[in-house]
Amino acid sequence: MFFKCYKKIDALGRVQIPKEFRRELELGENDDILIEISDGRIVISKAVQNCVFCGESDGLTEFHDKFVCKNCIKILNTT
Ligand SMILES: [Zn+2]
Repeated sequence: MFFKCYKKIDALGRVQIPKEFRRELELGENDDILIEISDGRIVISKAVQNCVFCGESDGLTEFHDKFVCKNCIKILNTT
């Protein structure tokens, strides 16, 4: 599916993401997004947090802006 539309940036730098776009990516209120610049474009993606060690996405604990899963915390605590 390809979506395209023109939007204006408001005085605070905000842009509203159209409802159809949010529905397509299953983005809801308070969901985390990732914003990055790539090849001169601003790319907005649904944020998916993963454990920095094993890539697990469930049961994460945030530490210094990184995410670590329960299993890796257990391993780190025993080594
Ligand atoms: Zn892990």
